[in-house]
Amino acid sequence: MPSPLTYDVFVAEPIPQNVRELVPNGDRRMFSPLSITLVSGEEDAVLVDPPMTIEQTKQVGDWVEASGKNLTHIFATHGHGDHWFGGAELAERFGARFVATPGTIEQMKLNVAMRPVFWDALFPGQIPQTDVTAVRAVHGVIELEGHKLRVIEVGHSDTEDTSVLHVPALGLVIAGDVLYNGVHQFLREAAGDGIKQWHEAIDIVAALEPRHIVTGHKNKELDDDADRAIAETRAYLDAAAELLAQEDNALGFFNAMLQKFPERLNPGALWGSATALFPQTV
Ligand SMILES: [Zn+2]
Repeated sequence: MPSPLTYDVFVAEPIPQNVRELVPNGDRRMFSPLSITLVSGEEDAVLVDPPMTIEQTKQVGDWVEASGKNLTHIFATHGHGDHWFGGAELAERFGARFVATPGTIEQMKLNVAMRPVFWDALFPGQIPQTDVTAVRAVHGVIELEGHKLRVIEVGHSDTEDTSVLHVPALGLVIAGDVLYNGVHQFLREAAGDGIKQWHEAIDIVAALEPRHIVTGHKNKELDDDADRAIAETRAYLDAAAELLAQEDNALGFFNAMLQKFPERLNPGALWGSATALFPQTV
């Protein structure tokens, strides 16, 4: 009998971005909270979606150390730097193997290339060295004390080439940014048929019939109920698609979405989406 598994989530608090302009609602531009998940057996553990900054990476490393588990693998669900920039350092600290899909590894390289104009501009001096050290997970499986954790590729969701980690023994999907939980969704890559493809990615997760979903960005006050995360992420996409057809400028889109989703954290992320979707109007 394999040992029972458990999971824990570390939520890294929102940090300010190096952006002077305020969000139209008066907020300072902040980065959304980040979810980092530790799946543990009796002795070993797997970390999913290591965080972004030097400070967050140290905090997560100390959290893993305090768990007393032996970290064997680190997995990144997708290539956006906020979900892996600290991965190489944590892999070295714990002697763990850093794995991802080939598509994610390619996206990691693109994120490293855009560091100077994007990540370092938002967080000057705060991002660690970002050599892409992740390797492909063999047969798309991560072994944890006799359990198979399955890497599932889902294609485009909030960016290209995304994946999730399915932990069948826990009825758990660690979904990266395929699902959101109480935080405004990243729609900067949603133009064209991006929203349709995102729905198709969610279809793949839903077919796994998970009970729990950890989302890459969550409001830490909320639980990990899978059905709610799926329904709410889809509702947000549907509203965005409808308003994209109705609105003709960034501010109109922002205000209408904010009115529909007043409880979601980080309207600044919504403003980021709006300015990308209506670039000619800002
Ligand atoms: Zn993200």
